[in-house]
Amino acid sequence: MNNGFSLPSVSVECQKNDCPLPPPLGGRLKFSILSSGSGGILIDAGLSEKKLSQRMAHIDRSLNGLDAVFATHEHTDHIRGMGPLLRRHQLPLYTTEGTYKRACHSLGKLPGFNPIRAGQFVEFGELVVEPYATPHDAEESVAFVIHYRGLRLGIATDLGKVTAEVTSKLQKLDALLIESNHDVEMLDAGPYPWITKRRIKSDVGHLSNEACGEMLSAVKHSGLRLVVLMHMSQTNNHPELARITARQALGQDDSTKMIIAEQNHPTALMAL
Ligand SMILES: [Zn+2]
Ligand SMILES: [Zn+2]
Repeated sequence: MNNGFSLPSVSVECQKNDCPLPPPLGGRLKFSILSSGSGGILIDAGLSEKKLSQRMAHIDRSLNGLDAVFATHEHTDHIRGMGPLLRRHQLPLYTTEGTYKRACHSLGKLPGFNPIRAGQFVEFGELVVEPYATPHDAEESVAFVIHYRGLRLGIATDLGKVTAEVTSKLQKLDALLIESNHDVEMLDAGPYPWITKRRIKSDVGHLSNEACGEMLSAVKHSGLRLVVLMHMSQTNNHPELARITARQALGQDDSTKMIIAEQNHPTALMAL
């Protein structure tokens, strides 16, 4: 894989972070690795550099082999380990200017920053990353559709609601990594403060199991081979509830493999 970066590196002024970062919602520390041939990209780094390295080794991969790191948005559960990781492995960060402005103080000095925008493709040889805008309580947050040799993999986490724009991006996928954050009744009855519950349930919060099912119903097709349920709250959800809701949304056709990403163990590397 070559490093065919399609966007120039430019500097964006780091704004003083006078608006404190919101706490992570949902409790999942996130990262996803997408690999093609010798290289690959990492999307988000919610774990420390050390823990991420251990998890990569567990799936027989290394942070040293990456081409770039992408960030979806500035919430700490997505960027906690980002700065040290980028510096230690001399990797360029790809994220929106909005995310960078919000996150730059916690990220520190970076080897390289490449601004991305929703709708503008970024190419790494045969791997093409398509950012799309997400409805979330972060500045210029995005998620991604990854294209590789005719295959399409969608990532849809940290979304407050299912929109026509998002479902249009996620059509005809081969694989979908989707948020199934909470069960609404468990959230309502759970220990979170009222204001936090309201944020999670808002149009810029997180997808409930039901909303995840709504999204799956809108994008399912015979070619969808893999669904990974992600960003699942340990406090406000139960994996079986999420699995049943998602499976019902996909219908009786069980040709779509479903996996639940766990917080404490890396998900096995999967090939499409
Ligand atoms: Zn978030
Ligand atoms: Zn998150």
